[in-house]
Amino acid sequence: MPLDSTRTYRVAIIGAGPGGICAAVRLRQAGIEDFVVLEQAEGIGGTWSRNRYPGLACDVASHFYSFSFAPKPDWSRPFAGQAEILAYLEEVVAAFGIRPHVHLGTSVEAAHWDSETAHWRLTTGHGSTVTAETVVAGPGMFGELRYPDIEGMDRFSGASFHTGSWPAEHSLSGERVAIVGSAASAVQLLPEAANVARRVHLFQRSANRVLPKEDTPFTGEQLAHFRQSPASVAELRPPTTSSSSSTSSTSTSGRGAAPPTTASPSGRIVTQWPHSTAPVPRADRLRPTARRLRDPCALPRLTPRSTTTNSSRPGSEQLHHRE
Ligand SMILES: Cc1cc2nc3c(=O)[nH]c(=O)nc-3n(C[C@H](O)[C@H](O)[C@H](O)COP(=O)(O)OP(=O)(O)OC[C@H]3O[C@@H](n4cnc5c(N)ncnc54)[C@H](O)[C@@H]3O)c2cc1C
Repeated sequence: MPLDSTRTYRVAIIGAGPGGICAAVRLRQAGIEDFVVLEQAEGIGGTWSRNRYPGLACDVASHFYSFSFAPKPDWSRPFAGQAEILAYLEEVVAAFGIRPHVHLGTSVEAAHWDSETAHWRLTTGHGSTVTAETVVAGPGMFGELRYPDIEGMDRFSGASFHTGSWPAEHSLSGERVAIVGSAASAVQLLPEAANVARRVHLFQRSANRVLPKEDTPFTGEQLAHFRQSPASVAELRPPTTSSSSSTSSTSTSGRGAAPPTTASPSGRIVTQWPHSTAPVPRADRLRPTARRLRDPCALPRLTPRSTTTNSSRPGSEQLHHRE
């Protein structure tokens, strides 16, 4: 259905990434049908549609990186790749009847609150106006690509691109490749590039620690079990924030006394890893309480500089918040 500039929608959602899709499903489940999803790209999926670089996968276990209302028993592996995640999001959009609400290729350029009518007026890239009682903003955080400011870059005559705008037709096969950066995307791209390129150089400003990823594809037997038993899939989802302290326990003996583990690989790392590396007196005070701490890639950034038990070590609050 085309956008109607003459009427007032109850809700306008900006973005059809996981956040926008989730909001749309929840609106429908609440019986609200009068809404639009405005998406600037030509496809749904946000991050998982825009990014296509080799090696891109989720670093959060897939049974956890799924909507609670749409569990997927047949994830092929513990940490699914980009294509599988995008296919999942497309399935959710189809299954929950969201597609008719989505307007692709429609960027929101401005949002003005009209206090007289108590409505939002959104201006789209096409110059049209969308009026809505409520706006849900789901534009994500990583859409704007950042390029390093390297002198002479404009004179580089080879192919050069960002992981966030990977050209579909480009293969690194046989090439001499330079990767700038050492964080999550580079960590995923590096082994893929090394597999096919003639030579790979990685330029890093600061060292990054990488945790092991237990990512053996699920066996046919495991997949059959997940399909037959929804409870077994639910068990792979660690409790979310409010009850997450149940994934750890208060240890009185410090290092070595790891709390009970969750069933998922990332859950196991989250609960065991801090206890095996933290200074002994602090280990019993470490409690994973947020998604950030469930992300194995985030854990190294929370590592205390000192693992000794001297007085200069940071306290547990500092440990929790250090980025
Ligand atoms: C390379 C990469 C890897 C990642 N890996 C992980 C991971 O392993 N685990 C994890 O938990 N998170 C990961 N993330 C974070 C990821 O972005 C989030 O998990 C999730 O995709 C956020 O969903 P979102 O809907 O909020 O935002 P997005 O997925 O970014 O979607 C936002 C959507 O809004 C649209 N939009 C933006 N502005 C406008 C506008 N003005 N008008 C209309 N539409 C607009 C965009 O086109 C996009 O489709 C990763 C991010 C990146 C970039």
